[in-house]
Amino acid sequence: MNFIWRVYNHWIPVKVELCKRRMNIDTSCDWCKTQDETLCHALWLCPAFQNIWQQVGFSTYISPSLNKARDVLLELAHHLSKDNMIQFIGLSWLIWKRKNHFVFQNKKPNDCYWIPWALEILDNQLSSDLQKQNCTNLRQIPDHPGCGISAIIRDHNGELIVAETRFIPGFLSVMVTETAAIQMRLDLALRWSCMDELIVNRLLMLSRIEKLLIRIGVT
Ligand SMILES: [Zn+2]
Repeated sequence: MNFIWRVYNHWIPVKVELCKRRMNIDTSCDWCKTQDETLCHALWLCPAFQNIWQQVGFSTYISPSLNKARDVLLELAHHLSKDNMIQFIGLSWLIWKRKNHFVFQNKKPNDCYWIPWALEILDNQLSSDLQKQNCTNLRQIPDHPGCGISAIIRDHNGELIVAETRFIPGFLSVMVTETAAIQMRLDLALRWSCMDELIVNRLLMLSRIEKLLIRIGVT
């Protein structure tokens, strides 16, 4: 999620941003050579990879009139489902990596291979994140009927802001306990006013809650 935080704040080192920081460089895009490499251009608008956004179905939501990354993100957050928004962010990150491979290693994979590969990477990553979150939040307590759950909130640099552990007595199902762990993290963020960090993680959190509710049959 660090990537999307940097995009939101225009902290990605595209050429136009580097020029604003007094680097004297040619600002034209390395892919298309016809337009300036702004952040929106490098991630979403460059004609050299519009084929990717069209094939995955996001191109209709990316308006060329939006020139600030945060406006694009907020606009899409209104139109896309939570899972699709996470997929959009993941694809943006992979396109940024793809662009760097092209610039620094002159590698340009064919779209017909790259798109399925990218979508599979994102599916695997989301599944892995969900499993990791479940494992780290739950600890069964030996000789005590119940389990301990923990919640940790970090800032965008990964520094610890606040952490809390709690013991839940009784025999609960794993699914119900996982849901309690997510609820605990939301409560913790509200109590400590970590809303900036929470907003950054909001889409991922909501996605996890939704998947858990589906798995335990609430929806
Ligand atoms: Zn371009």
